[in-house]
Amino acid sequence: MTQLLQDKDRIFTNLFGHHSPDLEAAKQRGAWNGTKEILEQGRDWIIDQMKASGLRGRGGAGFPTGLKWSFMPKDVGARPHYLVVNADESEPGTCKDREIMRHDPHLLIEGCLIASFSMQAHACYIYLRGEYVTERLAMEKAVKEAYEAKLIGEKNVHGWPFHVYIHHGAGAYICGEETALLESLEGKKGQPRLKPPFPANAGLYGCPTTVNNVESIAVAGTILRRGAQWFASFGRERNVGTKIFSISGHVNKPCNVEEAMSIPMKALIETHAGGVRGGWDNLKAVIPGGSSVSLLPKDICDDVLMDFDALQAHKSGLGTAAVIVMDKSTDVVKAIARISYFYRHESCGQCTPCREGTGWMWRVLERMARGESTIEEIDMLLDVAGQVEGHTICALGDAAAWPVQGLIRHFRGEIEERINNYRAGKPVFVSQAVAAE
Ligand code: SF4
Repeated sequence: MTQLLQDKDRIFTNLFGHHSPDLEAAKQRGAWNGTKEILEQGRDWIIDQMKASGLRGRGGAGFPTGLKWSFMPKDVGARPHYLVVNADESEPGTCKDREIMRHDPHLLIEGCLIASFSMQAHACYIYLRGEYVTERLAMEKAVKEAYEAKLIGEKNVHGWPFHVYIHHGAGAYICGEETALLESLEGKKGQPRLKPPFPANAGLYGCPTTVNNVESIAVAGTILRRGAQWFASFGRERNVGTKIFSISGHVNKPCNVEEAMSIPMKALIETHAGGVRGGWDNLKAVIPGGSSVSLLPKDICDDVLMDFDALQAHKSGLGTAAVIVMDKSTDVVKAIARISYFYRHESCGQCTPCREGTGWMWRVLERMARGESTIEEIDMLLDVAGQVEGHTICALGDAAAWPVQGLIRHFRGEIEERINNYRAGKPVFVSQAVAAE
């Protein structure tokens, strides 16, 4: 029997916007409670607690958050330190940071203050996705409230001069890559930088910078209030804490939900999203972490856990925890071809394997979806995906290759079948869906 997260252990108690996002309501839910006492414990204590909590970054890569904070220089030299919050949330299927900014913006602003203090930054930039107009307005309102209540600002009640700037992007997926985001913030074309140097040494305006995802920062205040051990008590070793999952696709009730890490995928979908359309046996595949990770067929989904290590063991990933459910009516080759088109469109074009490879993979997949390719091209496609993966400046190359590799790994038989059907003059794709009740 799966132990579900109880309401008393939820960090985001206004995830669905049933209550006001305003400062007073946020304070009643716990935000800004004891923040001064947290800062008075000192920077080392904060970073140690964040390390002890086991929090891994919620933006996709899963890098330990406390460790990332500790990479910033210990002393502030001639160059100021910055915190940059990545609110560019553009990974298809992902819509969790959006809800935090709309409904619990003060948890994010409080987290910005705590994180910035621990890294000796007096300024924080929140970089929002271009399409997030409602979220920008919500954040601007909350930031204004925080200034007026002297929670932040030059002379605030916390004794750490601190400013928050909201920056609205122009709607490019690649600006979610941390160095492209920094370029964009500086007013340049949003293209990833070669690393090293890493942002902790030379980030925004060449100064020490840490870039964190919205959810990673927004949970900091509650973790430090309730204790690192409390947060670490959910999930399993190396995969702890609570997490917002975005469940979409062929489910009865698509939703965002905060759950304990390592919840079984089946329990997550059946408990919170009303189950797969037509029942669990009507499931074909799930993309567990946003469009850039490999899809998993039903037999793996039956008992896989939703965490970093369990999904990686199946050559997929937790990514942004955006769970995209596909029932048996799905033309899975066409679905991955559509994802390939997305990455082709969003490639910034700096590196040849990504610029050329994403378009090449998309074109072959489109032909495969129609059954017009050859059997030999399946291995050729796999080979090209392998030449893109790991051979580019940023992770978009990997993001384009992994869905293709996953498709061939798990659905090679289906691709071959449609090629053979096409040659035999039969329909290339027939839905296997059971009749929905
Ligand atoms: Fe640009 Fe693609 Fe290279 Fe990333 S991998 S820098 S998106 S061309």
